[in-house]
Amino acid sequence: MLSTLRSLVQEVNSARDLQEALDIIVSRVQKAMGTEVCSVYLLDPSSNRYILMATEGLYRKAVGQVSLGYSEGLVGLVGSREEPINLEDAPSHPRYRYFPETGEERFRSFLGVPIIHHRRMLGVLVVQQRESSRTFDEGEEAFLVTVSAQLAGVIAHSEATGAISGLSLTGKETRDVSFNGVPGAPGVAIGTGVVMYPPADLDVVPEKPTDDIDGELERFRTAVLAVREDIERVARRLASQLRPEEQALFEVYLRMLGDEALPGEVANRIREGFWAQGALKQVVQQYVRHFERMDDHYLQERAVDIRDLGRRLLSHLQEGETRQVEFPERTVLVSEELTPAMLGEVPKGQLVGLVSVKGSSNSHVAILARAMGVPTVMGLVDIPVNQLDGRELIVDGFEGQLFASPSADLRAFFQAICDEENELVRGLEALRDLPCETTDGHRVSLLVNTGLMTDVVRSLSHGAEGIGLYRTEVPFMIQDRFPSEQEQREYYREQLEAFAPNPVTMRTLDVGGDKALTYFPIHEENPFLGWRGIRVTLDHPEIFLVQVRAMLKASEGLNNLQIMLPMISNISEVEESLHLIYRVYHEVREEGYDIQMPKVGVMVEVPAAVYQIRELADRVDFLSVGSNDLTQYLLAVDRNNPRVAQLYHSYHPAVLQALVRVAQDAHAVGKPVGICGELAGDPGGALLLMAMGYDSLSMNAASLPKVKSVIRSVSRDWAGQLLDDVLMLDSPHVIKSCVDLALRNAGFGRYLRPGRTSSAVIAEQTA
Ligand code: PEP
Ligand code: MG
Repeated sequence: MLSTLRSLVQEVNSARDLQEALDIIVSRVQKAMGTEVCSVYLLDPSSNRYILMATEGLYRKAVGQVSLGYSEGLVGLVGSREEPINLEDAPSHPRYRYFPETGEERFRSFLGVPIIHHRRMLGVLVVQQRESSRTFDEGEEAFLVTVSAQLAGVIAHSEATGAISGLSLTGKETRDVSFNGVPGAPGVAIGTGVVMYPPADLDVVPEKPTDDIDGELERFRTAVLAVREDIERVARRLASQLRPEEQALFEVYLRMLGDEALPGEVANRIREGFWAQGALKQVVQQYVRHFERMDDHYLQERAVDIRDLGRRLLSHLQEGETRQVEFPERTVLVSEELTPAMLGEVPKGQLVGLVSVKGSSNSHVAILARAMGVPTVMGLVDIPVNQLDGRELIVDGFEGQLFASPSADLRAFFQAICDEENELVRGLEALRDLPCETTDGHRVSLLVNTGLMTDVVRSLSHGAEGIGLYRTEVPFMIQDRFPSEQEQREYYREQLEAFAPNPVTMRTLDVGGDKALTYFPIHEENPFLGWRGIRVTLDHPEIFLVQVRAMLKASEGLNNLQIMLPMISNISEVEESLHLIYRVYHEVREEGYDIQMPKVGVMVEVPAAVYQIRELADRVDFLSVGSNDLTQYLLAVDRNNPRVAQLYHSYHPAVLQALVRVAQDAHAVGKPVGICGELAGDPGGALLLMAMGYDSLSMNAASLPKVKSVIRSVSRDWAGQLLDDVLMLDSPHVIKSCVDLALRNAGFGRYLRPGRTSSAVIAEQTA
């Protein structure tokens, strides 16, 4: 069964569109189960009806014609109960509904299972049988449930592809369709999609047409020649080490690269009007499918060779390609997995929005996007990336939604939001030089999180009082080797100088988890519970010592440096780090630098640290809560996994209780405590933190004016009352609504989200 299932999923995965996918499903399932009928009904979101989309066994003419209301018939019953229904004699069931167009009356036994993807009901998969004596047994039921669970993702993906082209399930034109991800960076962007793909990944190559057929043919020919040369070179190099039969592999490769074989077919596709990379993708995928379906193990292995050749050809094609990408004036960068390096490829001033299939709001790229003020949606798992190149896109970074090829109404709606937002930002400029103080005189320091120099420039213009978190890994991430001590010293000096005499808190290298350095790869099963932050740098004192030395030297004459240690989970880590910092301090002074010993603090981002605040505080000068990681570790929710993004909630009562405890314990031993996670930049979160007694809030520059404006408009008592109220509640969602309501009542509704919603605009289109 497993191999049937595997080949079914493989075949469905490679279908060109939704209809082909569904046709494959019904015919393969019918054959595998030996039933007379297999049909699939999909729930059409625009009409809320189940439409018969494909069948093997019922009359074909009924496809697309027969539909059932949301709770109509046995199909509706399966959908509303969200579980399989297995009946020996379906026509005698009170919910049975008969459609003469299908010829269904001949069939008695019925097994229907729901198709559900991420809690969303997509449709119902049904098998039927003429004989009532032939009831579907438990094994068959389990098989159908397995098929449905495996196919749900593929169906959701194909459905999204159709919707991007503006087609509904029945092939009719649709109204605007939104694709839901998670908010990455707030704001709205309207622009043109540019798909970026990692080098040599055929699966994510967009299928673009070309006007330059001769140019594409020429590029492809050059790539084929280059790959031939590569293979001949490798073969020569290995000639003395391989047995002759093993060397025959290279002969096979070279034959596959002959004009009659793969290159000939790719050239034909190019002549049909596809660009070379898309043509290559189509042909390679077709070959791979063909070989993978073969029973002979040797021939199955050829699929691997073809894929390898495809990758090699693609990487040669892309060498020329990287120089050719033309970025439109208003570029929305789209990728399976955005990387900080990709952001750097768009010319200055042309990047307006970001879309990533993988990752969530706390991925590094989202953090950078917030720093740069670029609206971003992350975790758009079902979006067909390849279809977005060159399309007009709307990125709604407030709600985490994406719209492709929008209607004029929807575009006008979002344009109004952009205009409103710009006006709001201009209005807040007047606050720049005013203190962040409540109406009853309670002061809170507003600091910024930085990583790039861009952040510093923006932060200064927004009135930040210092840097609460400089993520030193960011300059490390945009290089292809560890930066030298001198290079680090220059980066650090820029940050220190920009804010002097105000404090600049530099965090020692925090790599591991989701923060990867290409030149220092860490492969682990469980990276967030693995070798991360201080654990890495204490194991590599040569990295830690160079970094601290660069920081100290950079601070000469400014003396506004503070050093912060990430991912502390043991007191011994603090002691070891302090020992190294003191050592460097003395050495640097001995070298003749006139520096002061910087303040040293620890990040509280692992639950263990929450329970050792006093012991930690005794050893350091300050504490700073990393609420992004603290939330992840307290709730056991991977901060980058879009599947569980709905469970990642910094307003969770357990997180709030931990935050209260940290502030109380730190103050009990007289040490200042700040926060530098994203919660600090959320106007509602900032109010709660201020009420808890946090001395400083560090956030991305774009959030700072809004947070200042909210804090300046309330009293500490008012915020204290709100905190007391929410600490009585037990649901993160209710807490969030309660805080939002308080903000609206205090006149800050515009900081949350403009009044009318995009779904209201879409609903009006069909009203
Ligand atoms: C945090 O974990 O809250 C934090 C500020 O650090 P980072 O997001 O860089 O892990
Ligand atoms: Mg962290």
